[in-house]
Amino acid sequence: MKMAKIVCVLYDDPIDGYPQSYARDSIPKIRSYPDGQTAPTPKAIDFIPGQLLGSVSGALGLGSYLGSLGHTLVVTSDKDGENSRFDRELHDADIVISQPFWPAYLTAERIAKAPKLKLALTAGIGSDHVDLQAAMERNVTVAEITYCNSISVAEHVVMMILGLVRNYIPSYQWVVNGGWNIADCAARSYDLECMEVGTVAAGRIGLAVLRRLKPFDVKLHYTDRHRLPPEVEQELGLIWHPSVDSMVRVCDVVTINCPLHPETEHMFDDALLDKMKRGAYLINTARGKICDRDAIARALEDGRLSGYAGDVWFPQPPPQDHPWRSMPHHGMTPHISGTSLSAQARYAAGVREVLECWFEGRPIRDEYLVVNNGKLAGVGAHSYSAGDATGGSEEAAKYKLSA
Ligand code: NDP
Repeated sequence: MKMAKIVCVLYDDPIDGYPQSYARDSIPKIRSYPDGQTAPTPKAIDFIPGQLLGSVSGALGLGSYLGSLGHTLVVTSDKDGENSRFDRELHDADIVISQPFWPAYLTAERIAKAPKLKLALTAGIGSDHVDLQAAMERNVTVAEITYCNSISVAEHVVMMILGLVRNYIPSYQWVVNGGWNIADCAARSYDLECMEVGTVAAGRIGLAVLRRLKPFDVKLHYTDRHRLPPEVEQELGLIWHPSVDSMVRVCDVVTINCPLHPETEHMFDDALLDKMKRGAYLINTARGKICDRDAIARALEDGRLSGYAGDVWFPQPPPQDHPWRSMPHHGMTPHISGTSLSAQARYAAGVREVLECWFEGRPIRDEYLVVNNGKLAGVGAHSYSAGDATGGSEEAAKYKLSA
């Protein structure tokens, strides 16, 4: 077998070092997802589920497996700017493993610098940080670990909706600051019950959000390119909208759950925000670039939006002066919803499964494929559109300069 060089870009270890112990002793074992798709099925894993795998020292638990086959594994968090380790390692890389949380932007320029590159593997879901058009043109296979963290994100969305509507974060802050300011907390706090809640896309995450919200006695809406089966619409009492415009006009809460691709880039701009109900809440755990950065900040400042929450930004990491750090009524976190320890165990196992297939000459599961044989394939053909959504990603280097 030909020896391969694998470049894996992961986020840094915790500032106090790689954990020596964990808050919990185990995580539940999930064998299949709600639609029946099986969870990753590698032949073996060399990690303990529940450990931190997504940071540099965790190395997705791949070290001994790749070492035993004689491959070279380079793991780094240094990903931005022309002199980054990522850039310097690309020239002879066969495989790049990246993830959406601390994305190694695989732009056309970088793909051109990597003549041997054959596989770009996303440890997670969402391969918009890869220039898919360039990958198609260069015949680089792009794959992601479909479903590995969709439920993780759905749980996060529900948390963020409740957090915004009930005004949780500012109320928590009053306690931390030594106060007991009930009126200050209550003056922006509402019940979710009977509100109109809509999702942009009802794929794996969107549908899971709808299912989780059903018991809150809200009215549920969705818009998607493909309609859900009638029995699902009926079971959840869903109202389908042919366009995002028609949906946002009636919703108190909107959650975004579509991939970022040229069709969805900057979907939430001033024009769309103007059509929303005054005081609506917007939750975006899909991708930062689906929203127009400055339009969101303006809408919070002038009251068109009552709150905005999410964990996705553009670029990532965002520079210190990114307006979403300081705009009013936001509930932003770093990109974490899909990288709980539970999710990491699944995407690390999924990466191992794909690599086993790759090295053993077996096909990668169709549901993991985004680009194959020079065109959109598998899940990619269903959910993405051709083109590139990485434009502007070089801005991520500003974080390093300002940190
Ligand atoms: P799915 O592929 O299951 O769902 C995506 C859905 O988006 C599909 O139903 C697709 O429609 C729909 N869609 C695509 N384009 C449009 C459009 N223009 N308008 C309306 N709907 C559209 O993926 P998941 O639900 O698992 O994940 C969705 C996204 O969430 C990922 O692509 C990723 O960007 C993000 N994500 C974020 C994470 C985080 O940690 N914050 C973790 C995981 C995912 P159809 O297939 O019917 O054409």
